Amino acid sequence: MTDKNLDTLFAQLGGAIDAPTGGVVPVIQPATTFVRDTNNVPTSPHHLYSRDDDDLVRLAEDLLCQAEGGEAALLFPSGMAAVAALLRTVPTGGRIVLQSDIYWGTTKWTRDYCARRNVTLDEVDLANTEARDAVTGKADVVWAETPSNPYLKSVDIAACAALAKSLGAVLCVDSTAATPVISNPLKHGADYVMHSATKGINGHSDVLAGLLVTAEAASKRWTDIRADRHDAGAVLSPFAAWLLIRGMRTMPLRVERMCASAMTVAEAMEAHGAVSHVLYPGLASDPGYDIAKRQMSGGFGSLLSIRVAGGRQAALAAIGRLKLFKRATSLGGVESLVEHRHTIEDTVPDDLLRLSVGIENADDLIGDLVQALEG
Ligand SMILES: *Cc1c(COP(=O)(O)O)cnc(C)c1O
Repeated sequence: MTDKNLDTLFAQLGGAIDAPTGGVVPVIQPATTFVRDTNNVPTSPHHLYSRDDDDLVRLAEDLLCQAEGGEAALLFPSGMAAVAALLRTVPTGGRIVLQSDIYWGTTKWTRDYCARRNVTLDEVDLANTEARDAVTGKADVVWAETPSNPYLKSVDIAACAALAKSLGAVLCVDSTAATPVISNPLKHGADYVMHSATKGINGHSDVLAGLLVTAEAASKRWTDIRADRHDAGAVLSPFAAWLLIRGMRTMPLRVERMCASAMTVAEAMEAHGAVSHVLYPGLASDPGYDIAKRQMSGGFGSLLSIRVAGGRQAALAAIGRLKLFKRATSLGGVESLVEHRHTIEDTVPDDLLRLSVGIENADDLIGDLVQALEG
């Protein structure tokens, strides 16, 4: 783990400056290629071709690696590219144990990949101890997502790490909804942590990026992932990396505020008669509360779901009346978002509204929800 506090590390970008000018902000290097001198020696040994040689990408990877307490990190041009980079290491005839009811994009991609490659796929509710303990045999990868999207289930990472070990598999945790600020899955025994950096890490809904961090940089799987990123070219552009770094500087501050506001919103929703359920790991009434408390520190995330007591029609009426929460997919940005997941994912209950709490004033957000629920 880093010896610096995360707020200091990210505010100062680990001390990075633009060396030639002393600028306190690192610059974008748009060049795709770099010259060699008259003896054919590269001008800089670390700059040959930008597919693998971008300093901003390296800086962001270094900071995020420190934040997660890993040995190495790789950025990808989207969260899904990071998911695919890890799961594509499972060979034909292999087996993936995938947490059920998680981010739909991960489920869909994995189902398609497994069907195409003759990989056995077991979708298991890893938040359910009995279901988890019933998994036996051999596997290549166990994939968990905690808190899960959109049900906010908390999964015991240490127990999943033990499961993965018993199957001869590695454990990868999608920690997007937590961010590296409040949870570090590698510390609880995960082998890999994955993030959609599009969400809380960037935090401004203006760049797509994905992250993998490994606990063991020397492993064959990591070597293969690194080689495949280089060879297949799934890299972040210098401009996207700059935006990501710009967003990351305030990540600890944003996450602290958003977690505090999400907690207040969750409590207000739990107390409101028009809401039948609040799904949020920070509520003492939540089935995953004890696990979340053990695995998270400084907050429980900015994502929560509510189920509207009046059912589908009441949920749709309420979402239509919201003024501050923007009706849009995604999460983890400074602006609050709301989504009726059932509209695009029909297995999600039709009374469920997923909320991503931003950095606006929490009383304003609660006021908006209350007026929308009360019509
Ligand atoms: C958004 C998201 C992803 C995919 O990330 P993209 O950056 O959109 O490709 C994966 N997992 C979770 C939990 C997400 O919320």
